[in-house]
Amino acid sequence: MIRICSVDIYEKNNDIKILHNIKSKVLETVNFSVVGIMLNEKNNENISNQLKEFNTYYYDNNTQFEKYIKRNKIKNIIIGINLGNINSERDVKSFIKSIRKIGQVCRKLQLQIGINEKLNNENNKSNKNNKDNKDNKNKIDNEYINDGEVISCIIFNYRDKLNIKNYEVKDLIDSIKIEMYDTKKERYNYIYDKTYDMLNYEFTVKNLCQFKDNKCIEKRRTNVICGCCRRYKNIFSKKLIKCRYLKNKKCVAKCISCKLFTCDTLKSKNIEYGIKNFYLLNNYFNFLQKLIIKYSVYTPKDKIMKRLLILGK
Ligand code: SF4
Ligand code: SF4
Repeated sequence: MIRICSVDIYEKNNDIKILHNIKSKVLETVNFSVVGIMLNEKNNENISNQLKEFNTYYYDNNTQFEKYIKRNKIKNIIIGINLGNINSERDVKSFIKSIRKIGQVCRKLQLQIGINEKLNNENNKSNKNNKDNKDNKNKIDNEYINDGEVISCIIFNYRDKLNIKNYEVKDLIDSIKIEMYDTKKERYNYIYDKTYDMLNYEFTVKNLCQFKDNKCIEKRRTNVICGCCRRYKNIFSKKLIKCRYLKNKKCVAKCISCKLFTCDTLKSKNIEYGIKNFYLLNNYFNFLQKLIIKYSVYTPKDKIMKRLLILGK
């Protein structure tokens, strides 16, 4: 089964859609290339047959990739992934390694990941003497792609679940999305917000702390409201005061370290989150950055981000 994936850095969710026929329905434009990851010509004869209508490059290393891009004057790429070759954590790591390297080349050569209808139409205009274009052969089929969507990925041998612990198909798509951001700050910001939103969803929407009348399950029989959002007045004091970032009973700090914390009561109910549970934190941050994420409690996002940026490549 084949899927295409539209990835837009301004949209929260990436869209994965069924595609029946790559050749006739989608993506016939000038100067883009399908870059295959976990996909190689020899072992995937069936896939390479489907791709032979396009410029296709099977990713090997950055030097060769750069040469290919320059030689063919490619401006846009679409990532091709074969899920048939992603069956273990090791395979996922290998995928991440490749996509990150591809991202580096893209930024260096100002190569864009993804094509969109706007670009496609511009290409059509610049080739208006071409009969094929007059026939609208190059127009992206609207049955599959909405206005403004950026098509970034073709997935072969699609399956809904990867069946690899802590990894899902949408994580692989996220890896592509990250490389579409130009700066490290934007990439880290995406990782931070995405993970924070997932944690926030768990705690707020599912009410894991079982808040009732502003008292959580742990503090139910006490006078303490707003859970564990309090800290010692200073390092010499045993007096607990309300955290300065708690405003109108809500945290205004967007502190990811606090979000990862669970007390003994929650732990006894098997509610516990670690960095390894989150694809982006686990695979995109180094050891020191993970320590920052784990221990920067009572700290606003901008401060945590500064620390992460200093410690990251
Ligand atoms: S983590 Fe525990 S103490 Fe903190 S708010 Fe949740 S239930 Fe309450
Ligand atoms: S920073 Fe932490 S302790 Fe302070 S309000 Fe936010 S979640 Fe609560």
